[in-house]
Amino acid sequence: KNLKQYFPINGGIFKRVVGHVRAVDDISIAINEQETLALVGESGCGKSTTGKMILRLIQPTDGDILYNGQNIAALSNEQFRALRKDIQIIFQDPYSSLNPRMTVRQLLLEPILTHKLMPKQQAEQEIIEIIKHVGLTEKSFSKYPHEFSGGQRQRISIARALVLKPKFLVLDEPVSALDVSIQAQILNLLKKLQQQYQLTYLFISHDLNVVRHVSDRIAVMYLGHIVEIAPAQELFENPKHPYSQALISAIPKKHPNDFVERIILKGEIPDPSNPPEGCPFHTRCLYAKEQCKSGTIPNFQISELHDVKCVLYENA
Ligand code: SF4
Ligand code: MG
Repeated sequence: KNLKQYFPINGGIFKRVVGHVRAVDDISIAINEQETLALVGESGCGKSTTGKMILRLIQPTDGDILYNGQNIAALSNEQFRALRKDIQIIFQDPYSSLNPRMTVRQLLLEPILTHKLMPKQQAEQEIIEIIKHVGLTEKSFSKYPHEFSGGQRQRISIARALVLKPKFLVLDEPVSALDVSIQAQILNLLKKLQQQYQLTYLFISHDLNVVRHVSDRIAVMYLGHIVEIAPAQELFENPKHPYSQALISAIPKKHPNDFVERIILKGEIPDPSNPPEGCPFHTRCLYAKEQCKSGTIPNFQISELHDVKCVLYENA
């Protein structure tokens, strides 16, 4: 709720704060239990920063992070520790998130024992169950991460998150490092596990195609702002924000009949340390008018679950 992350920029010989990178600039989203909400946008738009704030890997500059009504951002480290196992993150690169010197067995046991969830003997049983649920076998227990393919390593990362019986997972580009054929397998696995473990996902991706079939709703981010949020199918069929329209027009179509003229955006993403006044997208928008260049652009509601931050819809 009203979440912000302004990273200070230090400059000059005294390394004083000379400005801020507005990585996340006042976003509010609600994620429902057992839903998958995708957060989509180009690299640098603030998606991963949002995920990291939820995990308290970085402290928000301002705003609240409400988890079942409790403000995570305001908890002490001690208080947060009790919640920490409920909320896990899966990163893009399973190479760097798995300790190369630990066997799979150690990798899976460690979180359970650190959080003192159960006695070791019981934990040993538990991890046998979980490794099967992610599509691997006990044979993998004595091996090290480098002995696996990228897709298998991501399965191990997922298992390592699941051993804590989390309720909420932040998936930060979980399939972006994988081949397209393997991507589908991991996406299917995530879907299956969501049902099985009643998980809630925040699925961060730069690729709309990846989130298309796994998300209930999609939020589109641009330059630290959420510019549109809608149910997944509605966003694809009826994107309203000019930025969402451009992103969707850029997706290769499976069918020649689905042809949509590709919208080429002019210019580059502005520097987040010096973002434009008014609508963050106005420097690249084909429909920008004078009123887009100053003030705050409000959210307009298109339908019950569809919001867009764009003045074209003020009479919608
Ligand atoms: Fe374009 Fe204006 Fe809408 Fe921003 S508010 S997306 S500049 S029309
Ligand atoms: Mg990222």
